[in-house]
Amino acid sequence: MTKTASQLPHPVTGQLFESPVPPGAGWPGDPAKSASTIAWTERQVEQMAGLAGSVAELDAVVSVCRACPRLVKWRETVATEGKRASFADQPYWGRPGPGFGDPEPEILVIGLAPAANGTNRTGRMFTGDRSGDWLYAALHRAGYASQPTSTHAGDGQSLTGVRIVAAVRCAPPGNKPDPAERHTCGLWLDRDLALAAPGLRSMLALGAIAWDATLASARRLGWAVQRPRPRFTHGAETAMVTTTDRSIRLVGSYHVSQQNTFTGRLTETMLDEVLAGL
Ligand code: SF4
Repeated sequence: MTKTASQLPHPVTGQLFESPVPPGAGWPGDPAKSASTIAWTERQVEQMAGLAGSVAELDAVVSVCRACPRLVKWRETVATEGKRASFADQPYWGRPGPGFGDPEPEILVIGLAPAANGTNRTGRMFTGDRSGDWLYAALHRAGYASQPTSTHAGDGQSLTGVRIVAAVRCAPPGNKPDPAERHTCGLWLDRDLALAAPGLRSMLALGAIAWDATLASARRLGWAVQRPRPRFTHGAETAMVTTTDRSIRLVGSYHVSQQNTFTGRLTETMLDEVLAGL
């Protein structure tokens, strides 16, 4: 292949990629194909989520979604003109972060949204930033992750029994998705919950936005959810019952953001204790 000026080598495989990465171009772990159907509207997200018959199909359509114009613009601007200087020699994923991990999980971890220079660069949930360093190290200590770090797609990391998704799948400016974006992307989360439900034991919400998004998804799916709405805090727990009478626990943890881990609001011990109880 002839290298173009805008192509850069993947840090693990060395293959050349444009930023954002075209679907099906060979990026490690890319669930999409070049012909994967794109959702342009909330209505299309709802329809396509409902039609996804497997986690693989869901991840493929999520990873090419363009239903939130503000977030599409932001993720692609960061991936082209807005790269962090230390990553300027790398291609940026620049697409929504698909779910990562075991396609038949016992535990679903729900984060807030991709980081602009983390998942938005690497294409894998919580990968390539300090938040991910914390989360994968804890998952490794708990026996769910094959290695303690997750630096790049293609680095050999794998999860057993755990799948990681997010309330919002595109990097938002200031880490603040607006209510309409949260609602639209919640329709993808609905499908993640529905597909995981048959084998699911627990869900771990990282932060209040993930907590609220998970409860909202469960309600839309017709699951029995505690009323009034249980409040988020670190260690909060509530049970919900699916339409097939499965009881699933929702547990809250402070988010593994640098803001929380640097200040000691969330310690390794606190995170380990939450994971041990799932
Ligand atoms: S935030 Fe979610 S719904 Fe919006 S464009 Fe990204 S993947 Fe699609």
